[in-house]
Amino acid sequence: MFFCGNSAENLLSTSSTSKVASDHDPDIHTQHRTTIHMPKLVIFTGAGISADSGLSTFRDPEGIWTREAIDLVCDYSSWKRNRKEVFRFYNARRAQLAQVEPNAAHLTVARLQHLYGAVLITQNVDDLHERAASIEGYEANVMHVHGRLTHMMCTSPGCVPWEIGYRHAHPDTEYCPRCASPKGVKPQIVLFGEPAPLYRPMRDVLKRLKYKDVLLVIGTSGKVVDIGEVAMKTDATTILSNLEPSTEQWLPEAPCIEDGQFDHVIHGRAAEMAPQIEALVHRLMAGDNAIPKIPVATA
Ligand SMILES: [Zn+2]
Repeated sequence: MFFCGNSAENLLSTSSTSKVASDHDPDIHTQHRTTIHMPKLVIFTGAGISADSGLSTFRDPEGIWTREAIDLVCDYSSWKRNRKEVFRFYNARRAQLAQVEPNAAHLTVARLQHLYGAVLITQNVDDLHERAASIEGYEANVMHVHGRLTHMMCTSPGCVPWEIGYRHAHPDTEYCPRCASPKGVKPQIVLFGEPAPLYRPMRDVLKRLKYKDVLLVIGTSGKVVDIGEVAMKTDATTILSNLEPSTEQWLPEAPCIEDGQFDHVIHGRAAEMAPQIEALVHRLMAGDNAIPKIPVATA
């Protein structure tokens, strides 16, 4: 299991122990416990944040799925038949990842995560959040709900993912370090139709959001994880940062992001809007409720 989300509860507990000198009271320790709810920050990112670093998105009109056959390279039911294509596709993604750098939005997210102990959930399989944290001098702590390009995995029970960085993986010679077999080896990417083991912990994190907490969503169409509906239902204050206003309508059978599902909306490239995003989060986390709930910034 590679989930390493920050599970620390932002519940500040103080306790004091006082001695009561009394011969009649055998219970000489009395404990007073006070619990204060501190606002929690959860950050959820999608392909839009990494697009500003030069990584191709998948679902846009110019995205990867307009050039590649999903059925061939990203289908759990057929990946073993198409191993060469699956490896080719993800080797190319890995090679591209080696050529790009985190942008200002990744750095902002790293700072916010560190400052507020935020849980960072990403749909992205790149490692730009980890690299941004490293640039800022922080430890990476990222919940990759769709897997990681820099890792391979083995489908045999008990085997654990291993890191290969940005190197080429060959379908015949990439062996599992534990069972020494190449047969069940695949990129550690959640393919379509494949169970996503981190969806449950992700839902748990989102469900725990309360009034005065903040949910920051950056760069997603909301079509794979229905974060728009989460934003609509939560009591937390919600922020959406997306390139453009949403044009589609949310439907139960075809979920998508709608600007109206969020309290605050920032339009523009995430890397360019990073200072506005950061300033807004600071104000909300400080309890500033005087901010009008309308689009606050547009590039
Ligand atoms: Zn194995």
